[in-house]
Amino acid sequence: MNTNKYTYRRKPMGNAFTNQPMPTHCKRCGRTYQEKAHDSGQWNIDFASGYVTGLICPRCQTAEDVMEAQANDLALEGSTIVEWDSLSSSEKNDVIHDAIYQRAVATIEKHKKAAQMAGDTHVMVDPASWGQEAVDSWPGIKGQSAAVRTSANSLATDIITQVLGLNKVRG
Ligand SMILES: [Zn+2]
Repeated sequence: MNTNKYTYRRKPMGNAFTNQPMPTHCKRCGRTYQEKAHDSGQWNIDFASGYVTGLICPRCQTAEDVMEAQANDLALEGSTIVEWDSLSSSEKNDVIHDAIYQRAVATIEKHKKAAQMAGDTHVMVDPASWGQEAVDSWPGIKGQSAAVRTSANSLATDIITQVLGLNKVRG
């Protein structure tokens, strides 16, 4: 498995991926990337030796592509490639939202895996503490105000609740 795929986000990631010309089509099926399309946030960008080799649309991504991009997104998030100060406040909100979403999903996976390793068939679910864990595991939260931290915690808790479908169960 190569390790060059990332989720393609035009705005916050723009300055992360140098000034290379961006491809406009899925390299597997030829579909055109449109920023306003409902699935634009799920497109992947593929690199080889630091050069952009193409976009892959959600329809053409294999499960392996998706996992690889998610893992790389997490690694990139911990780096300093994106110049935080250069982002507008709405871009910062987008970055925080995306980062928290990924951390929340990763936290759920971590707890599921730990339960599987332990041979448990059920996982004790605690969205509030998992939410806090997700936020604390994101390097970008360091230095943020208490207000940002509080809203990040509640965002992460909501995401975990939604992803786990707890609202439906309790409904
Ligand atoms: Zn495609």
